[in-house]
Amino acid sequence: MTRTVLLIEDNEQNRYLATFILERNGYHVSAAPEGASGIELARTLRPDVILLDIQLPVMNGYEVARVLRTIDELRTTTIVAVTSYAMVGDREKALAAGCNGYLEKPIDPETFVGDLERIVSLHVAAFGARR
Ligand code: MN
Repeated sequence: MTRTVLLIEDNEQNRYLATFILERNGYHVSAAPEGASGIELARTLRPDVILLDIQLPVMNGYEVARVLRTIDELRTTTIVAVTSYAMVGDREKALAAGCNGYLEKPIDPETFVGDLERIVSLHVAAFGARR
């Protein structure tokens, strides 16, 4: 089954790189540049995975994650926080906001998909298959 990834990321170069790597690995990728449109897209798309930048304009990624977790259809969607602000407590904040894992930027093209799939596998194992 091809997985669908929703990328919520305001930086165009980061969107381009992540999309390129994911599509090369067989994923369908949709993207939004900020939280509000990302949330609306998530509602209609019901992606398997949401890659969520934490540093976003208007709503930050923690706020976006909390809203996403109020949407019933997205209750078991894997949400992965992505941030370049690797400060102590960030991982815990992301998990507390409803994210299931955490990746640091800049993303490493060699390890990105493997790291992402490890987070998804652990989450799916914990919650069971969604479909
Ligand atoms: Mn950003």
